[in-house]
Amino acid sequence: MSAANTLQQIADEVRACTACRLHQSAMRAVPGEGPADAKIMFIGEAPGFHEDRQGRPFVGAAGQFLEELLGLAGLRRSEVFIANVIKHRPPDNRDPQPDEIAACSQFLDRQIAALNPLIIVTLGRFSMARWFPGEKISRIHGQPRWIDGRMIIPMMHPAAALHQPQYRAMIEADFRRLPEFIAQAEAKSAQADATSDKPDEPEIQQLSLF
Ligand code: URA
Repeated sequence: MSAANTLQQIADEVRACTACRLHQSAMRAVPGEGPADAKIMFIGEAPGFHEDRQGRPFVGAAGQFLEELLGLAGLRRSEVFIANVIKHRPPDNRDPQPDEIAACSQFLDRQIAALNPLIIVTLGRFSMARWFPGEKISRIHGQPRWIDGRMIIPMMHPAAALHQPQYRAMIEADFRRLPEFIAQAEAKSAQADATSDKPDEPEIQQLSLF
């Protein structure tokens, strides 16, 4: 199955999901969206009011700010994949609970596997916790780490940064560095491809004996 078909199938399953209580109060599920060949995936927390109404991620105030931030990095929304840890809106935008995160995690796992992005940008503490459990965003924001063959970049959540000037400057500075991180990730992945194309040294030595 193509990545696009797999992502579509996951989205269909998300829309039909009743695995936790959140589907009861939500209006619409928000599976996530973006091209199936996106190199960069952004992962937020959970749908809010506007996302719940439209069934699309990051379409409210935080979404507008995210689009501005993408612009600072020279990226367009249409070229990245955007998803959330939680696919149905928690009532009154409360924090997702551990059993809700657990019930939803298979969808994000499968989206990541289908997309296989070179870079994942986590937005806020709930998506950060998947790769950096116990870490503090104030300590590690904007510092990429290479995990399981991809670059993971923890960023502050745009909604948290939107109204607090000191965080706003910080997240903007982090997004301005994204092109540099993308270039690093691409160079590393090109290097890995080139190395895997080469025959192993021992084989060459063995052949030359005959
Ligand atoms: N905040 C999120 O974390 N995700 C959205 O989709 C919208 C706001």
